Amino acid sequence: MKITALRAHPVSVKLPATFWVGNSSFDTASVVVVEVETDQGLTGLATLHGRGMKIVCQMVDELQALIVGMDPLAHEAIWARVFDITTASPDPAHKPKSALFHADNRAQVMTALAGIDIGVWDIKGKAFNLPVWRLLGGDTRVLPAYVTGGYYRSDKPDGGLREEMQSYLELGYTGMKIKVGAASLADDIKRVAEVRATIGPDCQMMLDGNGAWSLNEAIAAIDAFTEFKPTWFEEPLHWYDSYRALGKLAGHTSIPIASGESELHAWNCRDLVDLGGVRIMQFDACRSGGVTEWLRVAAYCHLHGVRMSTHHEPHIHGHLAAAAPNGWNVETFPNAERDPIFANMYTNRAQITGGKLLLNDEPGFGFTIDWDFVAKYKVG
Ligand SMILES: [Mg+2]
Repeated sequence: MKITALRAHPVSVKLPATFWVGNSSFDTASVVVVEVETDQGLTGLATLHGRGMKIVCQMVDELQALIVGMDPLAHEAIWARVFDITTASPDPAHKPKSALFHADNRAQVMTALAGIDIGVWDIKGKAFNLPVWRLLGGDTRVLPAYVTGGYYRSDKPDGGLREEMQSYLELGYTGMKIKVGAASLADDIKRVAEVRATIGPDCQMMLDGNGAWSLNEAIAAIDAFTEFKPTWFEEPLHWYDSYRALGKLAGHTSIPIASGESELHAWNCRDLVDLGGVRIMQFDACRSGGVTEWLRVAAYCHLHGVRMSTHHEPHIHGHLAAAAPNGWNVETFPNAERDPIFANMYTNRAQITGGKLLLNDEPGFGFTIDWDFVAKYKVG
C-alpha cells in the first residue's frame, strides 16, 4: 500500500460569545481536517486542534513531495521523515523546497505531522479492520469523560456557573473543569466555591489556569482553592517558567499538577515529569506529533507514575487513553455553543453519554465527516 495524496481543510465557526481563559480569549472554534489517501481505496482522516491553520494546510500540501509513495503502515518512518525537517541536517533527498519550513514555524510542522500521523493510524485500523483502541491493545471502549466549561463569557458577565454546572449534572457528568486565572483571586475563589456547592462533594472539579500566574501567585491561588478539593490544578504558570517553577509548586501543594497540552514533543513532556512534578499529562496528539508521539509520552509517563488525561478531540484521543496502561479520562465539550464542530461536523463518531465516552467498533478512529459542513465553514 502506498500514500498517493494529502489534503487539508481549514474549518472555522464563529461562536455566539467571546470565551476567556487565564491568558487569552477566542471567539471562533477551529479545526483542520486532514485526508491521507492511498492507492488501495483507504483514506485516513485526522482532525487537528492546531493554530496557524493556513500555514499548517500549506505544509500538508507541500509535504506530499516527501510522503507520497511511502507505506502508510510505516508510521515511524513517516514520522521521522517529517520531523527531520526541524533539525539542522535533514536528509537532502527529503528536504522540502518551500521557504515555509523554517525554525519560526516548528510548531506548525509538528501540527502538520500530527495530521499525517493520525491519518496513517486511521488507515492502519482500516487496513486491519480494527478500531485503533483494539489495534493498540485495549480491551475496553468505554472510559470516563469530564466536561470543560466554566469559561469567562462576554455574554454572561455574572458567570451563569450554577446553571451551566447543573446542565452538565443532568447530562450525567461526574467531573467538571472550570477556568480560573482571568479574574482577581477573590473573584475566582467565589467561582470555585459556587461550582463546588453546585456539583456537591463527590464530583470531580478540575481547575485550569491556562498559564495565568507567576509562581508566587499560583501558590497563593492553590492555597486558597485547596479547601474546595480540586482533583487537579492545570497549567497554572506563565509559559516562560513552566518547568522548574512548576516543580516548586508541585512540591508545595498536595493537589496534583496537570500540564502538557501546550508541549510540542516528548522531550518537553519528559521535562514536565522530571522538573515540573506533573502527575497528570495532557499532551495533545492532535496539536503536535500525532499518535506516535503521544504513545512515546505515555510510555515515559507510565514509568514515572503519571496518568494520561487527554486534551480536545475525544473521538481520537479516546482510543489512546483507552489502550494506554496509564490512560485515565478524556476531556469533552458537550456545550454546542462552545464546540459547534464536535456537535455538527461528524456523520459518525464516538458518543458521549452518562459522563462516559463510548468508542465504537468501526475500523480506524471510527469517525466520518459531514463534508457539506466542511464546505460551508471552510476558510482561506
Ligand atoms: Mg487546559
